[in-house]
Amino acid sequence: MTTRVAVIGAGVVGLAAAWALERRGFACLVFERGAPGGGQSAGESRIFRHAHNDPRQFELAVRARRDWAEWETEFGVQLISSDGAMVIGSEAIARLEKYADEPSLRVRELDPRQVREALPILADFEGPALIDESAGAILTRLTIANLIDSVGLNLVPERVESVTARPEGGVEVVSSFGARVFDAVVVAAGTGTAELAATAGVTIPSSPQAHMRLTLPLESGLREPRLACIQDSSKAFGEASAYGSPVRGNRSYAVGLSLSTELDSEADGKDPLTELTEQTRAYVERAFPGLDGNGAVSFQRWVTELPWAADGLAIWQQGDAYFIAGHNLFKLAPALGKTLADSVVAGEVESGFAPEDRLGEAILKTR
Ligand SMILES: Cc1cc2nc3c(=O)[nH]c(=O)nc-3n(C[C@H](O)[C@H](O)[C@H](O)COP(=O)(O)OP(=O)(O)OC[C@H]3O[C@@H](n4cnc5c(N)ncnc54)[C@H](O)[C@@H]3O)c2cc1C
Repeated sequence: MTTRVAVIGAGVVGLAAAWALERRGFACLVFERGAPGGGQSAGESRIFRHAHNDPRQFELAVRARRDWAEWETEFGVQLISSDGAMVIGSEAIARLEKYADEPSLRVRELDPRQVREALPILADFEGPALIDESAGAILTRLTIANLIDSVGLNLVPERVESVTARPEGGVEVVSSFGARVFDAVVVAAGTGTAELAATAGVTIPSSPQAHMRLTLPLESGLREPRLACIQDSSKAFGEASAYGSPVRGNRSYAVGLSLSTELDSEADGKDPLTELTEQTRAYVERAFPGLDGNGAVSFQRWVTELPWAADGLAIWQQGDAYFIAGHNLFKLAPALGKTLADSVVAGEVESGFAPEDRLGEAILKTR
């Protein structure tokens, strides 16, 4: 008999899990309440980076980079740009330089002239810089489109109301269509995961935060042949932590501050998102004189951060149901899809991914 698995959520992680499950011979049904890829995974461009505070997450990124190459071969398209990911500022540099000698990475120092070559739209920067040329910008829409294509007809437009692991095995899924029982369930519902986990009696301590970034065209419609991603902790342009990544075709560039905001934290009557937008615009003016502020398009989504780290992620299990939560998951998606599929096969969460492992935590406690 074929094992039937329900995957809840057609974002990049759910689609990656469904594809990995199907390749392991499972029959999958993917539930999506809205547009596939329209949640946290929406929008053009994400940064793929190896640099992480937690060495375990670095290893996961190395695995993921191999898996991205596998997807590129199977889909027959390039999904990660070849322009690399640059870091400036001591904190961002420290995250990368400890892995600089890893054989699977291509990391090198840049002098100010090379910084300009790697990212010509950046204002003059004289400080130290590194680039990881095995990292780069993810072509998000192309990724989602290929994954949707591979999952095909098994994607159903249904909102899931509850997920209940049955003591005798299997999981009951109640959706807008009705109740069905599956052999196993993977919940990768982004902001909806904690709510669905609660219906199964699992508490996920994720706090939804509003995150925004601006996508800006290059001035006078120029197209630069090379635009690296950047992580900036230099404070040279007035912000402690910011990032940027090129959009497909290099005609525009997405810029965000590594800040999120709780929307209910409306102090003194000001809308925190408007303030965040203004702060981002001011940063763009200082750091990216080559971008056209008038053409800025704002992109905002709720993201789900776990309490132990900005990059934290974990998989919770209840019987045959698996729930994944975390932030900055796009770059890891192909590896996470395999991890979720392997967890279903083994009947338990892959070692290192349980909540008590606190994957992503900056400083490993003695344990
Ligand atoms: C502005 C921004 C910049 C980012 N930058 C980066 C970056 O540079 N690098 C990086 O790696 N990551 C980045 N991220 C994070 C990354 O995009 C997300 O972690 C990732 O896309 C999450 O994918 P997902 O599949 O888990 O969730 P989602 O894409 O949110 O997918 C979950 C899906 O589940 C569906 N769903 C929810 N509840 C239900 C329900 N009850 N029934 C049916 N369907 C349901 C939703 O509609 C949604 O489509 C960024 C995020 C944002 C917003």
